[in-house]
Amino acid sequence: MIPSVLPTYNRAPIAFVKGEGSWLIAEDGRRYLDLGAGIAVNALGHAHPALVQTLTDQARKLWHVSNIYTIPEQERLARLLTEVSFADTVFFTNSGTEAAELAIKMARKFHHEAGQPERTGIVAFEGAFHGRSTGAIAAAGSEKMVKGFGPLMPGFTHLKWPASDADHAAIRAAITDRTCAVILEPIQGEGGIRVVPDQCLKGLRDLCGETGTLLIFDEVQCGMGRTGRLFAHEWAGITPDIMMVAKGIGGGFPLGAVLATERAASGMTAGTHGSTYGGNPLGCAVGAKVVEILSDPAFLAEVARKGALMRQGLESLVARHPQMFDSVRGEGLMLGLKCKPAPAEVVKAGYSAGVLTVAAADNVLRLLPALNIPDADIAEALTRLDKAAATLVKAA
Ligand SMILES: *Cc1c(COP(=O)(O)O)cnc(C)c1O
Repeated sequence: MIPSVLPTYNRAPIAFVKGEGSWLIAEDGRRYLDLGAGIAVNALGHAHPALVQTLTDQARKLWHVSNIYTIPEQERLARLLTEVSFADTVFFTNSGTEAAELAIKMARKFHHEAGQPERTGIVAFEGAFHGRSTGAIAAAGSEKMVKGFGPLMPGFTHLKWPASDADHAAIRAAITDRTCAVILEPIQGEGGIRVVPDQCLKGLRDLCGETGTLLIFDEVQCGMGRTGRLFAHEWAGITPDIMMVAKGIGGGFPLGAVLATERAASGMTAGTHGSTYGGNPLGCAVGAKVVEILSDPAFLAEVARKGALMRQGLESLVARHPQMFDSVRGEGLMLGLKCKPAPAEVVKAGYSAGVLTVAAADNVLRLLPALNIPDADIAEALTRLDKAAATLVKAA
């Protein structure tokens, strides 16, 4: 008999009833150190007092009004985001997937309005993840995501993950007079914490500029302070034309956004797009508090420092357990541990040791803790990971 919840997940048999900062407490009272943070969602940990306050204050006032009215909380968050980014304008969604849909629509509409309606092609990359809508799975293109769901949205070309000059030459060759955009995660999350070198991001920016192609960054996982900069692309000193964010921006409240330059957004006039819940007062009030906290340079400097601390600890973990781990990768608090056994085994051993991690592709274990994780919790997490690794070594 089919379970009452559609069985599309391989779920661990652990249920949490409470969260406190970087800790999750299960039904049986066990405490787990949370290095997954809802897959980069709980950017400020669980039950952050300022977010609880903001949410409950707004909940007493107004939850939802239609986007047929002016929404001051939405305007305030949009202003905040345009102040701290390249963007001139913002559309709010409830998820990363919805942000992907709009990013694609916006890019196509731009060229349509610019008198080049034939420019509909989008260059995307192998190993990418942009969400689960029919458009987003077509953008990712992997067999695992698209099998059985065809016919897929046409127009996507998939290239090798850009890491070298040769890959860059392939991108140059793939951009034609029918290409409208390139979509890329500056650091792949689901794909296994794969960082695009700054040189490649710069080259891609130049290439898009030369060919009139719009550059879309998917910063749903790597954005919102995760790398020690508010947005991951800032490390390369370049900006996209369109950017998707979600996950961390709501700190746990479902919220996403598409940020764009005035030019890239110029086709999106009244009536061309919408969302019932996107930009509701409750989500935007929480989002504004999150952005206020995350965009503080002192906060971001702390993320970078904690990231370096954690990375150092992970490097020694690799040195102590060479049979288990190969290397550390990532930026800030978006870290990956390349494993020798399947990362799912390490995740499982982590459950026994009381530490939560997330598996990704490319045999990588993801560590995406709350951005304000205390140093003491980082130390405890490393101890628990060490214990998990030791158990696996013993069992092997
Ligand atoms: C999670 C994720 C998405 C999809 O976001 P949802 O909120 O799950 O729809 C898109 N892109 C990236 C890079 C992600 O990590």
